[in-house]
Amino acid sequence: MVLADLGKRINSAVNNAISNTQDDFTTSVDVMLKGIVTALLESDVNIALVSKLRNNIRSQLLSENRSEKSTTNAQTKKLIQKTVFDELCKLVTCEGSEEKAFVPKKRKTNIIMFVGLQGSGKTTSCTKLAVYYSKRGFKVGLVCADTFRAGAFDQLKQNAIRARIPFYGSYTETDPAKVAEEGINKFKKEKFDIIIVDTSGRHHQEEELFQEMIEISNVIKPNQTIMVLDASIGQAAEQQSKAFKESSDFGAIILTKMDGHARGGGAISAVAATNTPIIFIGTGEHIHDLEKFSPKSFISKLLG
Ligand code: GDP
Repeated sequence: MVLADLGKRINSAVNNAISNTQDDFTTSVDVMLKGIVTALLESDVNIALVSKLRNNIRSQLLSENRSEKSTTNAQTKKLIQKTVFDELCKLVTCEGSEEKAFVPKKRKTNIIMFVGLQGSGKTTSCTKLAVYYSKRGFKVGLVCADTFRAGAFDQLKQNAIRARIPFYGSYTETDPAKVAEEGINKFKKEKFDIIIVDTSGRHHQEEELFQEMIEISNVIKPNQTIMVLDASIGQAAEQQSKAFKESSDFGAIILTKMDGHARGGGAISAVAATNTPIIFIGTGEHIHDLEKFSPKSFISKLLG
């Protein structure tokens, strides 16, 4: 189920419960939860997470409504809406993410490394992030450390030129860690604030790819590693992010292709599987289609 439909289904389950508060409250809550649970599962959200959400909502609603004997209909409606909203926010929130958030500092070299499978939207997201920080007054450079795929450097170059972001790459060097190091040294000398390093993705979760990520990371020592995850891959997102986490220990996720037909739920589960926050979402192919991710505004938008 695509995200827009998920929002509609949850809303309709909540609205049904709200208009039936005169009926047996427990029955209304259970019918509502059935609707929400089915919608979340059809959107690929991990079953354990859905079950936790269901139990939390149920126990909170039943205990709070019972303890307030004098609750009015309006209060009950508000309670239902707030409880469902808060639990949905918890689904996409990573504990302690605010304290752990990476904030680049000006007049200091901040190195950001991107990892992710080929086609996930890595190169596009690198450019988008470069544009995002550049608009905020940072001097940003892009480095192509993908020496595996023919055409990778040309793609980054074209994106960078279009976005007016300085770039570095090589047509001849075959060692990605070496290119990354050279690019970083060049931009460091020129006093760049942020250096974004794009890496290879290949097609599958190959052992060699993870080994390459470890080697690059050891050489460039990134201040932040971001995994790019295609939101449209459904349940595979969880496995993919776990595998990358072991090799790259990324600290943040960018979810791409949240426009279009993203099922989204699989990606949401990835947050819980790796306990890593989503920091941005990609909402289109254009360089400005990048939105800062906040659980509350995401869920508000989802529910319309
Ligand atoms: P890479 O192989 O991981 O570097 O992936 P690319 O950056 O080349 O992106 C693969 C495809 O996905 C390209 O056609 C991009 O335009 C497209 N893409 C990337 N991010 C988004 C997004 O947020 N929304 C949409 N609709 N397309 C995207």
